[in-house]
Amino acid sequence: MSCLFCSIVAGDIPCSKIYEDESVFAFLDIGPVSEGHTLVVPKVHAENLQAGSAPDAEALMAAVYRIAPSIMKAVGADGYNLGMNHGECAGQDVMHTHLHIMPRKNGVSRSFTKTHPSMEELTATAEKIRAELQNLANVT
Ligand code: AMP
Ligand code: ZN
Repeated sequence: MSCLFCSIVAGDIPCSKIYEDESVFAFLDIGPVSEGHTLVVPKVHAENLQAGSAPDAEALMAAVYRIAPSIMKAVGADGYNLGMNHGECAGQDVMHTHLHIMPRKNGVSRSFTKTHPSMEELTATAEKIRAELQNLANVT
């Protein structure tokens, strides 16, 4: 079975990685609606949240809790939208469970229109986020 996000988790397809733990992997969306738009995926393949395990569902939200503050700080956001398209009917394009973290700034439109940053721009954003996560690790 070939799955885009399994290939990314395995390192077979490049991505702008920002975080991983034993259960989840997080990387920047290549078509972000805002700077820092992140996808959080379980490492174990499941087509959608309900097809996976309850611990993996919990691990996704635990990772959001852990990394969202660093994402916001890195891109100067004030909050974020959290989203999941569950099933084709809901607009799910990649059939491997994923949560979208979409940073938002006060006074800036909450557009869901995709943008197309260069690889260099995505890499720079990922580096800023990883630096914030590293700062957090150093103080906790
Ligand atoms: P969804 O519509 O919820 O299935 O979202 C799939 C997301 O995956 C979209 O926002 C895409 O921009 C994103 N995406 C597709 N291919 C890649 C990739 N190779 N690396 C990072 N994000 C991707
Ligand atoms: Zn997969």
